[in-house]
Amino acid sequence: MSALFSVVIPAYNEEEVIEESHKRLSAVMEQSGGDYELIFVNDGSADKTPELLREICSRDKHSKMVSFSRNFGHQTAITAGMEYATGEAVIVIDADLQDPPEVILQMIAKWKEGFDVVYGKRLKRKGETAFKKVTARLFYRTLNLLTDVKIPADVGDFRLIDRKVCNALKSLPERNRYVRGLVSWVGFKQTAVEYVREERFAGETKYPLRKMVKFASDGITSFSHKPLKISIYVGGFLSLFSFIYMIVVICQRLFGHSAISGWASSMAVSLFFNGVTLIMLGIIGEYIGRIYDEAKGRPLYIVGETAGFNDDKH
Ligand code: UDP
Ligand code: MG
Repeated sequence: MSALFSVVIPAYNEEEVIEESHKRLSAVMEQSGGDYELIFVNDGSADKTPELLREICSRDKHSKMVSFSRNFGHQTAITAGMEYATGEAVIVIDADLQDPPEVILQMIAKWKEGFDVVYGKRLKRKGETAFKKVTARLFYRTLNLLTDVKIPADVGDFRLIDRKVCNALKSLPERNRYVRGLVSWVGFKQTAVEYVREERFAGETKYPLRKMVKFASDGITSFSHKPLKISIYVGGFLSLFSFIYMIVVICQRLFGHSAISGWASSMAVSLFFNGVTLIMLGIIGEYIGRIYDEAKGRPLYIVGETAGFNDDKH
Protein backbone atom coordinates (compact mmCIF):
# COMPACT_ATOMS: atom_id res chain seq x y z
CA MET A 1 0.00 0.00 0.00
CA SER A 2 1.35 3.41 -0.77
CA ALA A 3 1.78 6.01 1.92
CA LEU A 4 0.04 9.35 1.96
CA PHE A 5 3.23 11.31 2.65
CA SER A 6 6.75 10.59 1.44
CA VAL A 7 9.63 12.45 3.00
CA VAL A 8 12.82 12.50 0.92
CA ILE A 9 16.04 13.07 2.86
CA PRO A 10 19.35 13.31 0.95
CA ALA A 11 22.28 12.42 3.16
CA TYR A 12 25.99 12.64 2.45
CA ASN A 13 28.37 11.87 5.30
CA GLU A 14 25.74 12.68 7.91
CA GLU A 15 26.59 10.05 10.55
CA GLU A 16 26.44 12.67 13.29
CA VAL A 17 22.92 13.82 12.53
CA ILE A 18 21.09 10.94 10.92
CA GLU A 19 19.73 9.38 14.14
CA GLU A 20 18.49 12.73 15.36
CA SER A 21 16.85 13.64 12.07
CA HIS A 22 15.15 10.25 11.96
CA LYS A 23 13.84 10.87 15.47
CA ARG A 24 12.58 14.40 14.79
CA LEU A 25 11.09 13.56 11.41
CA SER A 26 9.30 10.51 12.83
CA ALA A 27 7.88 12.58 15.68
CA VAL A 28 6.58 15.21 13.26
CA MET A 29 5.19 12.75 10.74
CA GLU A 30 3.35 10.86 13.51
CA GLN A 31 1.34 14.06 13.98
CA SER A 32 0.63 14.43 10.27
CA GLY A 33 -2.51 12.33 10.50
CA GLY A 34 -1.59 10.09 7.60
CA ASP A 35 0.56 7.11 6.76
CA TYR A 36 4.08 8.14 5.83
CA GLU A 37 7.42 6.88 4.57
CA LEU A 38 10.87 8.34 5.17
CA ILE A 39 13.09 7.79 2.15
CA PHE A 40 16.73 8.39 3.02
CA VAL A 41 18.96 8.72 -0.01
CA ASN A 42 22.54 7.90 0.88
CA ASP A 43 24.57 9.83 -1.65
CA GLY A 44 27.69 7.66 -1.54
CA SER A 45 28.70 8.57 2.01
CA ALA A 46 32.16 7.49 3.07
CA ASP A 47 31.29 7.41 6.77
CA LYS A 48 28.86 5.28 8.81
CA THR A 49 25.71 6.83 7.30
CA PRO A 50 24.69 3.70 5.31
CA GLU A 51 25.20 1.36 8.29
CA LEU A 52 23.14 3.63 10.52
CA LEU A 53 20.41 3.89 7.89
CA ARG A 54 20.33 0.11 7.40
CA GLU A 55 19.86 -0.27 11.11
CA ILE A 56 17.13 2.41 11.21
CA CYS A 57 15.29 0.70 8.34
CA SER A 58 15.38 -2.65 10.10
CA ARG A 59 13.71 -1.30 13.23
CA ASP A 60 11.31 1.27 11.74
CA LYS A 61 8.87 0.14 9.09
CA HIS A 62 8.36 3.70 7.87
CA SER A 63 12.01 4.15 6.94
CA LYS A 64 13.59 3.23 3.63
CA MET A 65 17.03 3.71 2.20
CA VAL A 66 18.24 4.14 -1.35
CA SER A 67 21.99 3.99 -1.45
CA PHE A 68 24.01 5.28 -4.41
CA SER A 69 27.11 3.47 -5.65
CA ARG A 70 29.08 6.72 -5.25
CA ASN A 71 28.52 10.44 -4.60
CA PHE A 72 26.25 11.78 -7.34
CA GLY A 73 25.33 15.09 -5.72
CA HIS A 74 22.55 16.62 -3.70
CA GLN A 75 20.21 17.42 -6.60
CA THR A 76 20.52 13.91 -8.00
CA ALA A 77 19.80 12.45 -4.58
CA ILE A 78 16.60 14.49 -4.38
CA THR A 79 15.61 13.32 -7.86
CA ALA A 80 16.15 9.67 -6.91
CA GLY A 81 14.09 10.13 -3.74
CA MET A 82 11.23 11.52 -5.79
CA GLU A 83 11.40 8.53 -8.12
CA TYR A 84 11.16 6.09 -5.21
CA ALA A 85 8.45 8.06 -3.40
CA THR A 86 4.92 6.67 -3.55
CA GLY A 87 3.09 9.29 -1.48
CA GLU A 88 0.31 11.63 -2.53
CA ALA A 89 2.50 14.46 -1.29
CA VAL A 90 6.30 14.40 -1.35
CA ILE A 91 8.35 16.47 1.08
CA VAL A 92 12.05 17.16 0.50
CA ILE A 93 14.16 18.10 3.51
CA ASP A 94 17.89 18.17 4.27
CA ALA A 95 19.26 15.63 6.71
CA ASP A 96 21.09 18.21 8.83
CA LEU A 97 17.98 19.68 10.56
CA GLN A 98 18.71 23.19 9.31
CA ASP A 99 15.19 23.16 7.99
CA PRO A 100 13.01 22.53 11.07
CA PRO A 101 10.91 19.37 10.47
CA GLU A 102 8.03 20.96 12.40
CA VAL A 103 7.44 23.30 9.41
CA ILE A 104 6.30 20.23 7.45
CA LEU A 105 3.00 20.34 9.35
CA GLN A 106 2.36 23.88 8.07
CA MET A 107 3.21 22.72 4.58
CA ILE A 108 0.74 19.86 4.86
CA ALA A 109 -1.94 22.29 6.02
CA LYS A 110 -1.35 24.43 2.91
CA TRP A 111 -1.43 21.32 0.73
CA LYS A 112 -4.80 20.41 2.23
CA GLU A 113 -6.01 23.92 1.32
CA GLY A 114 -5.30 22.97 -2.29
CA PHE A 115 -1.77 24.16 -3.09
CA ASP A 116 0.37 21.85 -5.22
CA VAL A 117 3.77 23.22 -4.24
CA VAL A 118 4.54 24.63 -0.81
CA TYR A 119 8.11 25.85 -0.57
CA GLY A 120 9.98 26.98 2.49
CA LYS A 121 11.20 30.55 2.31
CA ARG A 122 14.14 31.40 4.55
CA LEU A 123 13.51 34.50 6.57
CA LYS A 124 16.86 34.29 8.27
CA ARG A 125 19.84 31.99 8.18
CA LYS A 126 21.41 31.21 11.50
CA GLY A 127 24.96 30.07 12.01
CA GLU A 128 26.09 30.38 8.42
CA THR A 129 29.14 32.36 7.46
CA ALA A 130 28.76 35.91 6.15
CA PHE A 131 30.43 34.70 2.97
CA LYS A 132 27.75 32.04 2.43
CA LYS A 133 24.96 34.51 3.07
CA VAL A 134 26.36 37.14 0.72
CA THR A 135 27.11 34.67 -2.08
CA ALA A 136 23.70 33.03 -1.70
CA ARG A 137 21.96 36.42 -1.91
CA LEU A 138 24.00 37.48 -4.90
CA PHE A 139 23.38 34.17 -6.62
CA TYR A 140 19.58 34.26 -6.28
CA ARG A 141 19.45 37.85 -7.55
CA THR A 142 21.70 37.11 -10.56
CA LEU A 143 19.73 33.99 -11.36
CA ASN A 144 16.50 35.95 -11.46
CA LEU A 145 18.06 38.60 -13.64
CA LEU A 146 19.21 36.01 -16.14
CA THR A 147 16.31 33.58 -16.31
CA ASP A 148 12.85 33.88 -17.70
CA VAL A 149 11.40 31.33 -15.30
CA LYS A 150 10.65 33.06 -12.05
CA ILE A 151 12.59 31.15 -9.41
CA PRO A 152 11.74 32.50 -5.94
CA ALA A 153 14.70 33.96 -4.02
CA ASP A 154 15.96 32.54 -0.72
CA VAL A 155 14.14 29.29 -1.29
CA GLY A 156 16.03 26.04 -1.01
CA ASP A 157 14.90 22.53 -1.73
CA PHE A 158 12.88 22.26 1.46
CA ARG A 159 9.35 21.95 0.09
CA LEU A 160 6.23 19.86 -0.30
CA ILE A 161 5.04 18.86 -3.76
CA ASP A 162 1.86 17.15 -4.81
CA ARG A 163 1.89 13.80 -6.61
CA LYS A 164 1.09 15.45 -9.94
CA VAL A 165 4.06 17.83 -9.59
CA CYS A 166 6.28 14.89 -8.69
CA ASN A 167 5.12 13.04 -11.81
CA ALA A 168 5.76 16.11 -13.95
CA LEU A 169 9.30 16.41 -12.55
CA LYS A 170 9.92 12.72 -13.15
CA SER A 171 8.97 13.19 -16.79
CA LEU A 172 11.71 15.79 -17.37
CA PRO A 173 14.63 13.96 -18.96
CA GLU A 174 17.53 16.32 -18.30
CA ARG A 175 20.66 15.21 -16.52
CA ASN A 176 21.77 18.53 -15.07
CA ARG A 177 19.12 18.82 -12.46
CA TYR A 178 18.54 22.07 -10.70
CA VAL A 179 15.50 20.87 -8.83
CA ARG A 180 14.21 24.13 -7.40
CA GLY A 181 14.26 25.69 -10.87
CA LEU A 182 12.51 22.70 -12.40
CA VAL A 183 9.77 22.97 -9.78
CA SER A 184 9.18 26.59 -10.81
CA TRP A 185 9.27 25.59 -14.45
CA VAL A 186 6.53 22.95 -14.17
CA GLY A 187 4.19 25.54 -12.72
CA PHE A 188 1.06 24.52 -10.72
CA LYS A 189 -0.38 26.32 -7.78
CA GLN A 190 2.49 27.40 -5.55
CA THR A 191 2.77 29.12 -2.21
CA ALA A 192 5.39 29.75 0.47
CA VAL A 193 5.75 29.01 4.16
CA GLU A 194 8.26 31.23 5.91
CA TYR A 195 10.74 29.86 8.41
CA VAL A 196 14.03 30.62 10.08
CA ARG A 197 16.90 28.46 8.91
CA GLU A 198 18.62 26.92 11.91
CA GLU A 199 22.21 26.01 12.42
CA ARG A 200 23.35 22.60 11.37
CA PHE A 201 22.59 20.07 14.13
CA ALA A 202 26.10 18.64 13.83
CA GLY A 203 28.85 18.15 11.30
CA GLU A 204 29.76 20.69 8.69
CA THR A 205 28.46 21.83 5.35
CA LYS A 206 28.80 19.38 2.48
CA TYR A 207 28.81 22.28 0.04
CA PRO A 208 32.38 23.51 -0.24
CA LEU A 209 33.05 26.47 -2.56
CA ARG A 210 33.75 24.11 -5.47
CA LYS A 211 30.28 22.54 -5.21
CA MET A 212 28.67 25.94 -4.69
CA VAL A 213 30.20 27.24 -7.93
CA LYS A 214 29.06 24.16 -9.84
CA PHE A 215 25.59 24.49 -8.34
CA ALA A 216 25.38 28.15 -9.34
CA SER A 217 26.57 27.50 -12.88
CA ASP A 218 24.12 24.57 -13.20
CA GLY A 219 21.30 26.80 -12.08
CA ILE A 220 22.12 29.57 -14.51
CA THR A 221 22.98 27.47 -17.55
CA SER A 222 20.02 25.13 -17.23
CA PHE A 223 17.56 27.99 -17.16
CA SER A 224 19.02 30.66 -19.35
CA HIS A 225 20.71 31.29 -22.67
CA LYS A 226 21.46 34.86 -21.73
CA PRO A 227 25.16 34.31 -21.01
CA LEU A 228 25.48 33.31 -24.68
CA LYS A 229 23.79 36.50 -25.76
CA ILE A 230 26.14 38.57 -23.64
CA SER A 231 28.86 37.91 -26.25
CA ILE A 232 26.68 39.57 -28.90
CA TYR A 233 26.22 42.67 -26.77
CA VAL A 234 29.84 42.88 -25.68
CA GLY A 235 31.00 42.20 -29.25
CA GLY A 236 28.65 44.85 -30.63
CA PHE A 237 29.73 47.44 -28.13
CA LEU A 238 33.42 46.78 -28.67
CA SER A 239 33.07 46.85 -32.47
CA LEU A 240 31.33 50.21 -32.31
CA PHE A 241 34.01 51.55 -29.99
CA SER A 242 36.79 50.21 -32.26
CA PHE A 243 35.16 51.69 -35.33
CA ILE A 244 35.04 55.15 -33.76
CA TYR A 245 38.63 54.83 -32.64
CA MET A 246 39.64 53.69 -36.14
CA ILE A 247 38.24 56.92 -37.59
CA VAL A 248 40.15 58.90 -34.98
CA VAL A 249 43.40 57.13 -35.91
CA ILE A 250 42.84 57.69 -39.65
CA CYS A 251 42.14 61.38 -39.09
CA GLN A 252 45.25 61.73 -36.99
CA ARG A 253 47.29 60.15 -39.78
CA LEU A 254 45.72 62.29 -42.53
CA PHE A 255 45.99 65.55 -40.69
CA GLY A 256 49.57 65.18 -39.81
CA HIS A 257 49.59 64.02 -36.21
CA SER A 258 51.61 60.89 -35.73
CA ALA A 259 49.49 57.79 -35.24
CA ILE A 260 52.46 55.71 -34.16
CA SER A 261 52.47 56.31 -30.48
CA GLY A 262 52.52 53.84 -27.72
CA TRP A 263 53.33 50.20 -27.78
CA ALA A 264 51.71 50.00 -24.35
CA SER A 265 48.29 51.02 -25.52
CA SER A 266 48.19 48.51 -28.39
CA MET A 267 49.35 45.80 -26.02
CA ALA A 268 46.61 46.69 -23.54
CA VAL A 269 43.94 46.62 -26.24
CA SER A 270 45.15 43.31 -27.62
CA LEU A 271 45.27 41.65 -24.20
CA PHE A 272 41.86 42.97 -23.29
CA PHE A 273 40.27 41.67 -26.48
CA ASN A 274 41.92 38.30 -26.10
CA GLY A 275 40.60 38.07 -22.58
CA VAL A 276 37.08 38.88 -23.68
CA THR A 277 37.28 36.33 -26.49
CA LEU A 278 38.48 33.60 -24.16
CA ILE A 279 35.74 34.30 -21.62
CA MET A 280 33.14 34.07 -24.37
CA LEU A 281 34.65 30.83 -25.64
CA GLY A 282 34.52 29.50 -22.09
CA ILE A 283 30.83 30.31 -21.83
CA ILE A 284 30.13 28.57 -25.13
CA GLY A 285 32.21 25.62 -23.91
CA GLU A 286 30.10 25.38 -20.77
CA TYR A 287 26.96 24.98 -22.85
CA ILE A 288 28.59 22.50 -25.22
CA GLY A 289 29.70 20.43 -22.22
CA ARG A 290 26.12 20.33 -21.09
CA ILE A 291 24.88 19.27 -24.51
CA TYR A 292 27.51 16.51 -24.44
CA ASP A 293 26.33 15.34 -21.01
CA GLU A 294 22.76 15.17 -22.22
CA ALA A 295 23.72 13.44 -25.47
CA LYS A 296 25.51 10.61 -23.67
CA GLY A 297 22.19 9.69 -22.12
CA ARG A 298 23.71 7.91 -19.14
CA PRO A 299 21.48 7.14 -16.18
CA LEU A 300 21.35 9.93 -13.62
CA TYR A 301 22.58 7.71 -10.80
CA ILE A 302 23.39 4.11 -9.95
CA VAL A 303 21.75 2.50 -6.95
CA GLY A 304 24.04 0.13 -5.11
CA GLU A 305 21.69 -1.01 -2.39
CA THR A 306 18.22 -0.40 -0.98
CA ALA A 307 16.66 -1.21 2.39
CA GLY A 308 13.11 -1.13 3.70
CA PHE A 309 11.42 -1.67 0.31
CA ASN A 310 9.50 -4.85 -0.53
CA ASP A 311 11.94 -5.82 -3.27
CA ASP A 312 15.26 -4.75 -1.80
CA LYS A 313 18.43 -4.67 -3.83
CA HIS A 314 21.60 -5.84 -2.11
N1 UDP B 1 24.13 16.42 0.27
C1 UDP B 1 24.10 15.33 -0.61
N2 UDP B 1 25.10 15.19 -1.51
C2 UDP B 1 26.14 16.08 -1.62
C3 UDP B 1 26.15 17.20 -0.76
C4 UDP B 1 25.12 17.35 0.17
O1 UDP B 1 23.18 14.52 -0.55
O2 UDP B 1 27.01 15.87 -2.47
C5 UDP B 1 23.04 16.58 1.25
C6 UDP B 1 23.50 16.79 2.68
O3 UDP B 1 23.68 15.56 3.35
C7 UDP B 1 22.36 17.59 3.28
C8 UDP B 1 21.87 18.40 2.08
O4 UDP B 1 22.35 17.75 0.92
O5 UDP B 1 21.30 16.76 3.72
C9 UDP B 1 22.34 19.83 2.12
O6 UDP B 1 23.73 19.89 2.30
P1 UDP B 1 24.42 20.87 3.34
O7 UDP B 1 23.62 20.94 4.59
O8 UDP B 1 25.83 20.43 3.50
O9 UDP B 1 24.36 22.23 2.54
P2 UDP B 1 24.12 23.69 3.15
O10 UDP B 1 22.93 23.59 4.05
O11 UDP B 1 25.35 24.04 3.88
O12 UDP B 1 23.88 24.54 1.95
MG1 MG C 1 22.71 22.31 5.55
